[in-house]
This record gives sequence, C-alpha cells and structure tokens, in this order.
Amino acid sequence: MLRAKYHQERDKRIRDDGNEQYIEPVGKFAHYLDDPYVDAKPREPLTDEVTFAFIGGGFAGLVTGARLKEAGIDDVRIIEKGGDFGGTWYWNRYPGAMCDTAAFIYMPLLEETGHMPSRKYTRAPEILEHCQRIGNHYGLYENAVFSTEVTDLTWNQELQRWIIRTNRGDEMRAKFVATGTGPLHRPKLPGIDGIEEFRGHSFHTSRWDYGYTGGSPGGAPLVNLADKRVGIIGTGATSVQCVPHVAQSAGELFVFQRTPSSIDIRNNQDTDADWFASLEPGWQQEWLVNFTTLQTGGFTDEDLVKDGWTDISQRIRDKAIENGDFSPEGLTKAYHDSDDDKMAEIRARVDAIITDPQTADALKPWYRQLCKRPCFHDEYLDSFNSDSVHLVDTDGQGVRRIDETGVFVGDQHYELDCLIYASGFEVGTSYERRSGFDTVGRDGLTLSQAWVDGMTSLHGIHVHGFPNMFVVGPNQGANLISNVPHNLTERGRTIAAIVAHAIANDSDEVETSADAETNWLAKLESGGRTFGNDPSCTPGYYNNEGKLDEGSGNRNFLGYPDGPVAYFEYIDHWRNDGDFKGLEFR
Ligand code: NDP
Repeated sequence: MLRAKYHQERDKRIRDDGNEQYIEPVGKFAHYLDDPYVDAKPREPLTDEVTFAFIGGGFAGLVTGARLKEAGIDDVRIIEKGGDFGGTWYWNRYPGAMCDTAAFIYMPLLEETGHMPSRKYTRAPEILEHCQRIGNHYGLYENAVFSTEVTDLTWNQELQRWIIRTNRGDEMRAKFVATGTGPLHRPKLPGIDGIEEFRGHSFHTSRWDYGYTGGSPGGAPLVNLADKRVGIIGTGATSVQCVPHVAQSAGELFVFQRTPSSIDIRNNQDTDADWFASLEPGWQQEWLVNFTTLQTGGFTDEDLVKDGWTDISQRIRDKAIENGDFSPEGLTKAYHDSDDDKMAEIRARVDAIITDPQTADALKPWYRQLCKRPCFHDEYLDSFNSDSVHLVDTDGQGVRRIDETGVFVGDQHYELDCLIYASGFEVGTSYERRSGFDTVGRDGLTLSQAWVDGMTSLHGIHVHGFPNMFVVGPNQGANLISNVPHNLTERGRTIAAIVAHAIANDSDEVETSADAETNWLAKLESGGRTFGNDPSCTPGYYNNEGKLDEGSGNRNFLGYPDGPVAYFEYIDHWRNDGDFKGLEFR
C-alpha cells in the first residue's frame, strides 16, 4: 500500500523535460544574479602571475588556501564573484538561514582558528563570519580579488600556465588552478509560462532583497512586507527556513507547493562554553570521523554529534538488532522498515501541529526520507496555522502560469505584490551552464566536452587533459552530502600535498593519466550511486529530476563504492605514501 502510494505520488511529478524545466538566470533573467550586498570596488585589471589561483571563495577555496599556506605555498590568490569570502553563506542571507549540520563538524578549522560555535546549529551570519575568520587567520585576503567573475580559463601549453580572464578585464596567469565553485552555486528559476511578465517585485532567495522587504539576516522583522501580498515558489530546505520569518511579517503569504519536504524535529541548543573548553586537542577530526562513520552505516561506541543524520543510521541499526539479521538483505529490510517508521512519524507530526486537516494532508510527504533533502525545523509547520499564511498545494503540478499581477494554480489566480523564488540551484545541467564559464585544457579540449556524458576524474580531483588543475567538491570522492565541508578539507589537504611535491621536485606539470581516470570511474561505477537511486523516489536534484540514466547528472553523483570513511582513509594513505599513483609529474 505504502509503496504504491509513493509510486503514485512520484509518477504525478515525473516530467519529460527533467532539468530543462528550469530557466538559467541569463539574458533578461540575468538581474536575478546581481549582488545585492556589496558594490564592486573599482580596480585596475590584473595581468600578473601567481603560483596557485583558486576560483571560488567559499569553504572550498578557504580550506584549500589554508592547507596550501600550511604547506608553505604562500602565493595563493582566491578569485571570487561575491564581494567577500563565504560562497553559499555569502549569497544565502535569506531570513532564517542556518545550517542543518551540527556546527562542530560543519564549520571547518575550528581548532585552528579558535572559534566556539554559539549553538549546535548556527545561523548563517555566524558561518559567514567564520569564513572571514579563516580568510584573516590564513592571510587569504591579501591576494584575493572579489566581485570578479571568471569568464575564461585556458591552459597555455607554451607557457605551461593557466590564463584566467575575468569580467573585470583581468588576464592573470597561474601555475596551478583549482575550481571550487560549489555543487549548488548557480540559482535556477522555474520555467513557468509568463514568468517574464510579472510586474511586481521578485527575487531569488539566494539574493534576498532586504532593501525591499526590510529586516536583516540577523533576524530583524521584514517590516516592509506588512502591507504586501507575498508569494513564494518552492518548499525545499531554503523555503522551510525562510517561510516562518516571512509569515510573521507579510500581510498575506501564499506558499506554492509542488512537493512537501519532510520536516523532522530541530531541537537546537546553545553551546556550553565549559564543555567546549574541555574538549581535547584533535577533537574536531575525531568528531568528523565519528559522524561520518555513523551517518554512513558504520559502528562506533558513542554518537558524538547526535543529530537527525546520525539518528537515521541509529534507527537502521536498531531495526537490524530487533530483526536479528545483519545480512545485506537484512540491512536493506532494516533500512526500509526504519524509514517507513520515520516517515510515519513525520506525517504524524504534521497532524499534531496543523489545525486544518486539508492543509495537514497536503503537507505530508510520501517518499523515503533520503529521496529529497531531509529538513529539520521547529517553526515551519506552525506557520500554516496563521490566518495570513496560505498553503497553495498544486498536487505535484507546480504553478501553471505567471502574469503581470500574480500567478495561476489551475484556473485560480493569486494576486501578488512580491514573488520570491525558492526554486533551488542548477545541479544536473552541463558543466558550462552550472559554472558560468568553460575551462579549456590541453589541445583546446574543453571541460564541457570532456564531461559531455558526465564527470570523469581521478579521485574527483584530477581530469586528464587538464594539467595543473584540481577540482574541489564532494563528487566522485567521498560524496558525503550530509557534511559537505568535510569533503573539501580532505581535498584541500590532498592538493596541498601534491603541489608541495611538484614544487619540491621542480615539476612543471602534474596530470592524471587517462588509464588512472578510466580505472577510477570503473571503480566508482562498480558500487553504483550512493543515494537517490530508489525507484520510488520523487523527482528532485538528488535523482537528476527522476532521470537517473540520462544526462550528466548520473555520473556526477557517484561516490567511492566503500563509502565516505573508506574514501577518506584511502586518500589519506594515497597522499602520504609519496607515490601519488595515477598522477604524472613532468
Ligand atoms: P531545492 O532544489 O531543494 O527546492 C526547490 C523547490 O522549488 C522545490 O520545492 C521544488 O519543488 C520547487 N519548484 C521548482 N519548480 C517549481 C514550480 N514550477 N512550481 C512550484 N514549485 C517549484 O532548493 P533549495 O534552495 O530549497 O535547497 C537547495 C539545497 O541547499 C538543499 O537541498 C540543501 O542541500 C541546501 N540547503 C541547506 C540548508 C540547511 O542546511 N538547512 C538550508 C537551505 C538549503 P519539487 O520538490 O516538486 O521539485
């Protein structure tokens, strides 16, 4: 019965156009990308050379920059589109933004920088501040360029240098480059008929317009919305966090829902400073390993982090113990049983909180918890009990049309002053579309050509045909989605070791061999995808909009077949044994 319901809800939502249903913020939609926070400072174009250039000033660039500096490579330049460091935390300043992963493992380099997170789950402004702290601590501001968008990245074989051109007229050279542009960095808009016709105010959540709404990222009320009819399209993790804030301030709020998120308990707590001070040196690495082990099905004596992510694994283990079956089939059954229980709890929570039965029904998710990004929130559901907040459920179909004054769901028109797009980010589209520029390697090969059937790499870091270039992200490595920065710190360490080795040995070029890349991909494919591959999963970016066998999204999500802990152990050994197997140093 339950499985049939899951399939029925999924089938309603599968669309022929998959990823193509979304609109890129280019041309007449380009203004949705404008930086609302900082005006670009005038400066002369740069034509100099650095040892290491990093594209992207989020956690990827910061932690790699930090590890390079620690390894004695001082000449590092981070090139960032935003007006400061922070990446996703620079852009996502919508009211209520916070991180769902416990700060003690999410915020990198806590011991190195001496920061104590204020709460178990920290709000976005504290994370942005931490990015700035890392930048200051490691001297990464000195050579950084902000409000600068890379337009072209080309390998010059004669010079054995990368040439980096930008929208500020720069033509810099770098011996090594890395890209850390983030898996969810480019906002997308829903391709709804008439979207360009709307004459009210509109913006994407990753460019929150406080000038229009009033309020602040710190939580000040959005006072300018008091007399406004506000619509929000999307009910993913972003919407779940900002809806309670908009609900408190807006005259009327209409939440247009295609698929409800699963909303589990948040239960945030302040950090006990005495407890924090009692942690032994090396604690953060221990916590990282403990979390990753538990979150990915392993066993430890203690659950240090104790959050919604480790709870998922704890439940599976408890079920397996209850069933007395630890065979692979037994573990699959334990996963299914515990997930069925969890989702039933999540639906019961909706009934317990929501007073209107029709609204409650519409807010119940019918899919496995890991089909979509699980959400954890203690105020989102309550928002719908307010008379001024209206859930407009579209039964999986989405908004049908937008016109000058509002939106249509079915034949019903909703008049709006302001329309907020909480419609997410490009994930499964081509590399060029996602990054906003292409990368040209040896012999004119572009990365979008190399990755036309999806990503190929060694370790998720090196691409054959692209010497002295490194990719910093979770993909084709640990692929640990519950704690993205952990992937990045390990990559930073690995890259610093390779570059230090190249410099010590006077190598001009370092590149993976085609064979090593092929073997790595075969290894990844032997294990299949690490999540989102349940055929009953409702579409979303976790499963390439329900089209796992199509397009580049398929390969991009591959992870190490033995799981994240095994990948981290493997890569630690690989970078420390001095052989750097699979790389050619020339
Ligand atoms: P998502 O891609 O998760 O959500 C986009 C939303 O827009 C979905 O609800 C989608 O519906 C909806 N949508 C798209 N097109 C239409 C349409 N035509 N009509 C109606 N609705 C539409 O983006 P988010 O920004 O919410 O989250 C992205 C990711 O960022 C998260 O998954 C998470 O990894 C990260 N994040 C983490 C946070 C945290 O730590 N708490 C907070 C915020 C974000 P449908 O589901 O049907 O496709």
